Amino acid sequence: MSDYRIQGATGDWEVVIGLEIHAQVTSNAKLFSGASTEFGAEPNSQVSLVDAAMPGMLPTINGECVRQAVRTGLAIGAEINKYSVFDRKNYFYADLPQGYQISQFKHPIVGHGTVTVDLESGGTKEIGVERIHLEQDAGKSMHDQHPQYTYVDLNRSGVALMEIVSDPDMRSPEEAGAYVTKIRTILRYIGSCDGNMEQGSMRADVNVSVRRVGDPLGTRCEIKNVNSVRFVRQAVEIEARRQVDIIEDGGTIDQETRLFDPVKAETRSMRSKEEAHDYRYFPDPDLLPLEFDDAFIEAARDSLPELPDAKKARFMEALGLNDYNASVLVAEQVSAAYFETLVTAVAKATGKSEADVAVKASNWLTCDLFGALNKAGISITETPVSAEQGAGLLALIEDGTISGRIAKDVFEIMFETGKDAADIVEEKGLKQVSDTGAIDAIIDEIIAANPGQLAQYRAGKDKLIGFFVGQVMKATQGQANPGVVNKLLKPKLDG
Ligand code: ADP
Ligand code: MG
Repeated sequence: MSDYRIQGATGDWEVVIGLEIHAQVTSNAKLFSGASTEFGAEPNSQVSLVDAAMPGMLPTINGECVRQAVRTGLAIGAEINKYSVFDRKNYFYADLPQGYQISQFKHPIVGHGTVTVDLESGGTKEIGVERIHLEQDAGKSMHDQHPQYTYVDLNRSGVALMEIVSDPDMRSPEEAGAYVTKIRTILRYIGSCDGNMEQGSMRADVNVSVRRVGDPLGTRCEIKNVNSVRFVRQAVEIEARRQVDIIEDGGTIDQETRLFDPVKAETRSMRSKEEAHDYRYFPDPDLLPLEFDDAFIEAARDSLPELPDAKKARFMEALGLNDYNASVLVAEQVSAAYFETLVTAVAKATGKSEADVAVKASNWLTCDLFGALNKAGISITETPVSAEQGAGLLALIEDGTISGRIAKDVFEIMFETGKDAADIVEEKGLKQVSDTGAIDAIIDEIIAANPGQLAQYRAGKDKLIGFFVGQVMKATQGQANPGVVNKLLKPKLDG
């Protein structure tokens, strides 16, 4: 539980947050037309007659979008409504050629569900999802193309969106950010939305109100179209502070729609409730209600992959990972998949069980590989070191061919060149020296060369053994097997 509070002049305030997330459904075609949904095309190059609202055109439902919405509902444990209805939501806007948006109002496709969000403290919190409905996206007005005119791009017009409406269950900027992050993770796992907030395929309307702890809900403001997790957190913080200041100054909050300006770090009014739209929703007469049978729902359920929460629990329980590593690995499906391939390959190469090699593999992955990817500013999808290659490196450590120290150098070369660990070790002659004869001779030399340290060691300064180990490792360029060095060194030092 979060105990985030906003300190006011007259005491502490609680913030209440509910999010409406618009997620673009992954599909080749739009919700009611065959036009392409590809991102980044020339303006107005992906507009069918339906999307342009030519007279007499009829919408035809895209079954894939319906299936993806159902899968999304199942992924958050929601009720799937076997009967749902498309409505017309009427309003006038330049980028909405129909004069209405086809949406769902009284009968959405998905009912109540739950999302478990992961908090920075390591704890979790359940956030309710009131509903998910399907609707069309609008076009885009472009104000920066001409000094006098606004241009309209209808490529987005008619693209399928899922509107995922949360309950007002969040109580801090952190929880709001964690919720958006978790929704994005789930959508990406199941492939119903690419979650790409920079390209606008996921964006959030952030509803914020404040109250004294224990009081009924306060009046909310809705901050429109926030397009990053960081901005969601900032918008909540800034808006909550604004509301507290108004109430403490004796004012009241007007229910209104606002926009978040990250540059000025403020929210500004867009329209107030007095100007609020009467959408005059009514069932779209061009579209039949959607009706599902159990077989359709069960097929959608069967198509779901292992979800992030289940995967995390398995990584912890079956493979012994700690909470942190498990969370980091399941956050992106590609990371989890990399890890699973890695563990299987290391286990195979070493003849050990997956449970025996998983913790080391997770440490290498989260520290070494993720560290290098971060530094290079690339994502795991672009990694120059494949999971099989990573397993090759870990197997060389595991069987004693190279030390952990040398492995760091080998990895650096792998990352730069994309070569296999075994080839690098061979080429550069980096094999660990476990030959006792060779190490014996080096130890004798080192002891002979450091009579002062030897005397101090024998006088009781035990810690100096580290110095001698270090010298031997240095003399062998880190290639001496540290286990063998320790075993041979002690009796010689003790005389
Ligand atoms: P509307 O009917 O105007 O769409 P809803 O009741 O459906 O409003 O709520 C829209 C969103 O606002 C939901 O995500 C909900 O959780 C959130 N919400 C509702 N009341 C509050 C409140 N007092 N404070 C913060 N968020 C709220
Ligand atoms: Mg509502």
